[in-house]
Amino acid sequence: MSQAGALGPWRDDPLVAIDRASPVDALPDVGAPVCASVARSMVSLETRPDLYTLVNPAHAWGAPYLADLLVATAEEMAILLPEADPILIGDVSQRGGGALAGHLTHNMGIDVDIGLYTLAGKQRITGFEPLGKSNLDFEASWLLIKNLLSSGRVEFILLDQGLIDLLRKWALGNGRMTVAEADRVFPSPNTPHLWERTGYVRNAANHRDHIHVRVRCDEAGTELATAVR
Ligand SMILES: [Zn+2]
Repeated sequence: MSQAGALGPWRDDPLVAIDRASPVDALPDVGAPVCASVARSMVSLETRPDLYTLVNPAHAWGAPYLADLLVATAEEMAILLPEADPILIGDVSQRGGGALAGHLTHNMGIDVDIGLYTLAGKQRITGFEPLGKSNLDFEASWLLIKNLLSSGRVEFILLDQGLIDLLRKWALGNGRMTVAEADRVFPSPNTPHLWERTGYVRNAANHRDHIHVRVRCDEAGTELATAVR
């Protein structure tokens, strides 16, 4: 069973927490017209307790292609890890978008917080006990991140650098990716021109028990890549 503990929101401030070494590497302008049109078309995530647990259904409004991505990812995880908990989905956005308490983003239906797996495929908010080497389910958490990135819809994923380093080391040590793949998926915090890239995991503080997923806010993000299905 999933155990939600102290229900969110997971506190995250990606606008200020992103690596200070790359000050020009800012989030896209959330007021851009194409993003605004996304906000107007937001849908409520359907209730699917077999696939995922919604921490707060009132904050589960997102772009249609984000909703599709979450269902597809959860279906894939259920197939890959049938014994694991359904994934825990934290805040997306509220109906109609706009400022959401506890967040600086999550205002356009293109951001979602998803729990990482603790040992034995459990999904729960860990409160004051952050995830680390002793309690992170590496296999399950890597599969979740890999499936999200494989969709072609993810602009970036935010995670604490300590967990990024652990996941990268685990994936390399267990033959899950080559060094070249690891450099692309887990770029160094000082990687130049990071803002020109999509589909990678980057450092952000306050992300030691969940990932923050930003989907692309453009036309290209509307078609779900076959890699997920
Ligand atoms: Zn978030």
